[in-house]
Amino acid sequence: MSITRRKFLGMGAAATAGLSLAPGVRLIDMAEARAPDVPASAKNRWGLLIDTTKCAKGCSSCVDACATENGVHSERGSPETHAEWIRKVDVTDPGTGHEFSLPVMCQHCQHPPCVDVCPTGASFKRADGIVLVDKHICIGCRYCMMACPYKARSFEHENVTGQKPYAPRGKGTVESCTLCVQKIDRGDGTTACAEACKKEGHEAILFGDLNDPESEISKRVRTTATRAIREDMNLDTSVRYKGI
Ligand code: SF4
Ligand code: SF4
Repeated sequence: MSITRRKFLGMGAAATAGLSLAPGVRLIDMAEARAPDVPASAKNRWGLLIDTTKCAKGCSSCVDACATENGVHSERGSPETHAEWIRKVDVTDPGTGHEFSLPVMCQHCQHPPCVDVCPTGASFKRADGIVLVDKHICIGCRYCMMACPYKARSFEHENVTGQKPYAPRGKGTVESCTLCVQKIDRGDGTTACAEACKKEGHEAILFGDLNDPESEISKRVRTTATRAIREDMNLDTSVRYKGI
């Protein structure tokens, strides 16, 4: 997908002011496994920092890794109806001709419109900021898809195969990036997309705890200019971008 920078950012004169980040920061230990009977904690706020200056045009390793990790296969059905948890977008600034490429997935908003509009409570935000869909109570109304300004959600039109036990999917339900919640809960300390990007030598995706002032992601967010897509909507996303 190729679009102009203005359209991509979704606003006119883009404010370059820094985001208000990591309110109530606290020092916590590095990622560790969470026992199944221990609920997610608000002391963590998991997020991603995506450095578009390192993201390679034409590279889709993050997209491929997400599909493999989460059992999201795009080879079935028509391309128009493929489930898409993460996509690559190529952006051009018509003023300067500057081009950049970046992955877009659920932005794990702290004020998620998808949760606000969900009539059943299937769309929900965990205490640690991860936005998920409970497939057991999703009725497939797709209100959340219409509410999401990032077009981050997909409706599953077909019977699914190759599901992973930790990433349940189902025909007639809506799905999106889970921030690799299974990896977070077992203490991997990364996501499949971040791992794949690192393996390719780009290191454009950094996962971490925005609530931990000592985490690498918090340090980088404090010391470099980062932005959210559609900052004008004040959704307080947990996915930040450098270089947009
Ligand atoms: S990016 Fe979209 S699906 Fe994700 S939390 Fe925000 S509104 Fe919801
Ligand atoms: S965090 Fe996990 S689920 Fe989300 S886009 Fe990356 S690989 Fe996919």
